[in-house]
Amino acid sequence: MDTVLYYSDQFVFDTLYAKLWPSCTKSVAGHVISAWPRDDFWRVNLSIYIITVTFGYLLYLITASLSYYFVFDHDYMKHPKFLKNQIRMEIECALSAMPWMTLFTLPFFSGEVFGKSLLYGGMPKTTYDWLYLFASIPSFLFFTDGGIYWFHRWMHHPKVYKYLHKLHHKWVIPTPFASHAFNPCDGFLQSLPYHLYVFMIPMHKYLYLGLFGFVNFWTVMIHDGEFISHSEIINTSAHHFVHHVYFNYNYGQYFTFWDRLGNSHRQPTDEQYEKALRDDHKVMARQAFDSSSIEGQTLNANKLKSQ
Ligand SMILES: [Zn+2]
Ligand SMILES: [Zn+2]
Repeated sequence: MDTVLYYSDQFVFDTLYAKLWPSCTKSVAGHVISAWPRDDFWRVNLSIYIITVTFGYLLYLITASLSYYFVFDHDYMKHPKFLKNQIRMEIECALSAMPWMTLFTLPFFSGEVFGKSLLYGGMPKTTYDWLYLFASIPSFLFFTDGGIYWFHRWMHHPKVYKYLHKLHHKWVIPTPFASHAFNPCDGFLQSLPYHLYVFMIPMHKYLYLGLFGFVNFWTVMIHDGEFISHSEIINTSAHHFVHHVYFNYNYGQYFTFWDRLGNSHRQPTDEQYEKALRDDHKVMARQAFDSSSIEGQTLNANKLKSQ
């Protein structure tokens, strides 16, 4: 984030803040500069906030639009659980959640810029440096996958579900635009493992930036409704589709490892992989019935316990 902030200051914020809040006493080479120095705590936080919301919107709208137009199976829009105006609702939900998610995440990004995290820079020099750099990729994915699994599973607990996670399950048949359509607290909790990782384990800052972009991209991909891979190891879009329909399975993000360990893995079947079968009206009607009854059972289980 410090590098992104440096270039944003250079090309946007120095000029912007000089106009909004000019210094009465200081100038550089005849140009008025801002009274707000680059390392001011509040300036750093405001700049990071603007950068994250702007890039978050761009990344979401571009990748979800591309995925929607070129990958998503549009026949799914005939599903009885596909809502009227669903895409507009998904986009509105995501765009209104992102400013809040960014606000909750700000202390972590700000901590990174002020050198409180374990992110490091520089070119790797030794073989060990390179090995560590490459080992950081599976380590980061494994750690964050586990973190997301447990946060996600906890949010399916009947006492928690309706307050935090129910909104994301409004989209029983999700489109790529559902990828970031969460309650902001839900979205923040599911991104928390990424931020915690770099405050616990050293990682190269450019690799982190790349992987952070990748995880957002992946989140769009697992909602794209096109089931190319039949993998039993990777948590594909077919696995996540099963999660949206059958509710109590496949809480993971990248791999099926934690679901297998936590006894919540459900392998997709021809119902997802075979286009003729998944567009069949009877299959869709059964899915609609199952999704309502499974979600209802979970919510009623809590009511029965509390009676
Ligand atoms: Zn869920
Ligand atoms: Zn989802």
